Amino acid sequence: MTLTEKLLARAAGKASVAAGENVWVNADVLMTHDVCGPGTIGVFKREFGEDAKVWDSQKVVIIPDHYIFTADSRSNRNVDILRDFANEQKLPYFYDVIDDPEGKWQFDASQGTLKRQYGTRYAGVCHAALPQKGHTRPGEVLFGTDSHTCMAGAFNQFATGIGNTDAGFVMGTGKLLIKVPETMRFRLEGKLAPGVMAKDVILHVIGEIGFDGATYRAMQFDGEGARSLSMDDRMTIANMAIEAGGKNGIFEFDEKTQALVDERTKLNGTKSDYQPVEPDADQSFIYESVIDLDKLEPTVACHPDPGQRKKASELESVELDRAYVGSCTGGKTSDFVEFAKFLNGKKVVIDTFGVPATPEIVDDLQTQMWNDKSVWQVLQDAGVQMTENAGCSACLGGPVDTFGRMNTPLKCISATNRNFPGRMGHKESQVFLASPATVAASAITGRITDPRTLLS
Ligand code: SF4
Repeated sequence: MTLTEKLLARAAGKASVAAGENVWVNADVLMTHDVCGPGTIGVFKREFGEDAKVWDSQKVVIIPDHYIFTADSRSNRNVDILRDFANEQKLPYFYDVIDDPEGKWQFDASQGTLKRQYGTRYAGVCHAALPQKGHTRPGEVLFGTDSHTCMAGAFNQFATGIGNTDAGFVMGTGKLLIKVPETMRFRLEGKLAPGVMAKDVILHVIGEIGFDGATYRAMQFDGEGARSLSMDDRMTIANMAIEAGGKNGIFEFDEKTQALVDERTKLNGTKSDYQPVEPDADQSFIYESVIDLDKLEPTVACHPDPGQRKKASELESVELDRAYVGSCTGGKTSDFVEFAKFLNGKKVVIDTFGVPATPEIVDDLQTQMWNDKSVWQVLQDAGVQMTENAGCSACLGGPVDTFGRMNTPLKCISATNRNFPGRMGHKESQVFLASPATVAASAITGRITDPRTLLS
């Protein structure tokens, strides 16, 4: 069996499963957020009763992150709905925006968008927060009401996005009927060259198979090259499995996985025992491809979908209005550090926005010093508008007052993960997906630029 088949067999209590089989699997974690949480709670209450209890309060994780730093009252109210539910159900893992459990969330626009407006529990973008807060464990099944839930496949788990109806059912029963996906294998060899990042790997893969090339399939990334990648790199790649239509992305377990999971579960006092899935000798794949990381070049997904692959070097005539680094895919500490390496001592020539995925990443960037400056200061000195209000921000457009949102038809190069028309705001804007290194180089020149041309 492939990694995904083995994992689903275990979660279904069976010795083996085959691709195409429908099995009931037990959920280890159900995650929801401010956009889908209220709807999920509505389904749960409608189907199980007003006084029903969630199947396991230790396994429901609620992370408001999407439409948070906006004066839009309905968006603010969604956070209050989640708080009321967490109080009612006594959920220990609700990462509230404010500290007062009886309070109401209201964004104060008069304070501006850059200074933090959240309390001590706030965790930021759900997919980056889940591992930081100790909720990702190898061998487990994670369902989330968000398509990029597949990011947790970096931790050797089956992680996939589900709709509100399914999530309401999981909330009441802890189970879900799943069709076992076929598995596509991407064997990674070699190592990434300077100026080339994990984002380039996944943009290359999606360009190869198309934005529907993995529809309802598992995307398994393995081989020596996969082991050479950091956990942040693996998260970037697994995150975008859905951009090829994938059901899930998954990596093998190794000492890097173990180190991060053990550190984070201990730090947060979450469940610390787990059982990874190891590869079988006789795995059977629907598709196999070998990717030589040494040969990859900085890659861009052009408007209007993540499959429109071009090399950055082929796009140097494309003039830009805006650059953006942020999101679950591209707003991690390592993404900002790479971004800052290119911007250190330079100036951006177009509007450039930086939105760290989580408050912990804000702290990392503000405390990591390069000589006498923090990484945060390096970015600010280069002209990047950095906000402490970690969250999804303009990755998903959001209400019109969202930081970095494109309210006019602009051309933007972005380290985010999705670029369908209207994704980051105006429906006639154009988004070019790229690595933080390529975004940095392009922000310096105002045109799409291969970052290797700026390496000394
Ligand atoms: S950062 Fe973007 S892709 Fe990630 S969860 Fe938020 S809206 Fe979705």
